[in-house]
Amino acid sequence: MASSLRSEFEMQIKCTQCGADVTVQQDETFIECPFCASALFLDKRKVVFHYLINSNFKPNEAEGNLKRWMAGNHTVKDLDQKAQIIKNEFYYFPVWYFKTKDASGDKIFLQPAASTSVSEIKKLQIPAGALKFYEKNTYNEDQIVKPDVLYDSAQTWLQNSGVDLNNVSEAALVHIPFYQFYYNFGGQSYTALVEASSGQVYSNIYPAKSEAPFRILFALSIVAFVLTSIVCYVLGFVLNSSSEEALLTAEFFKIFAYGLVSVPLIVMAYVIAKKV
Ligand SMILES: [Zn+2]
Repeated sequence: MASSLRSEFEMQIKCTQCGADVTVQQDETFIECPFCASALFLDKRKVVFHYLINSNFKPNEAEGNLKRWMAGNHTVKDLDQKAQIIKNEFYYFPVWYFKTKDASGDKIFLQPAASTSVSEIKKLQIPAGALKFYEKNTYNEDQIVKPDVLYDSAQTWLQNSGVDLNNVSEAALVHIPFYQFYYNFGGQSYTALVEASSGQVYSNIYPAKSEAPFRILFALSIVAFVLTSIVCYVLGFVLNSSSEEALLTAEFFKIFAYGLVSVPLIVMAYVIAKKV
């Protein structure tokens, strides 16, 4: 990883893969080693591998995945039909990729290499075979998001999350394909990401199912059961002269009363689940 400045506009770096000296123009960041063809990313004086993951999804297929996610259980009912999808953008988003090796095995840590509002990016799963060397001139440069989080910051983050940097066996910059969808629902705008190699949907702010009706129902259930118990005890004491018999009668009534009271509550829960 050594490097030296050759002139104002050129410098020489050591290829991470083959160790050859590679001459780099000052404004170059995405480099291909002329000796072994490895794709490299140059961040000041740090050279790391530069990978890209290919997209397996066309825009309409990605939208299909988004619609299925919208039809799921955590989003508001019928979001797949009611949401208006405004547009989508396709891009390759950069993440810092660290592979660590210790007694417990290999682990992979990801950190966004550009600013993003979607924190789920850290939870991405990257299948090992999916990493391809980034080939210059193969991809539309406009779709490649340039990293603005430096390698040093990513290392600091890694250290802060409890990783011993001596255990890092591989570090790389990885460009991951995404469709970013913009949609409107209920007068608000939302975005969702579809990772275009696996089709996985990522979103942290979306029209969620409201929990309020369920909370109200829960409170109502407690009140209903308490009132039912009171009625049973009152009846027990009205119908019996001895308090021992009164308590027994109350317990007996409770078995049936609880059953009766739970019927409308279950019906209400079912109706709420259908509607919200
Ligand atoms: Zn090389």
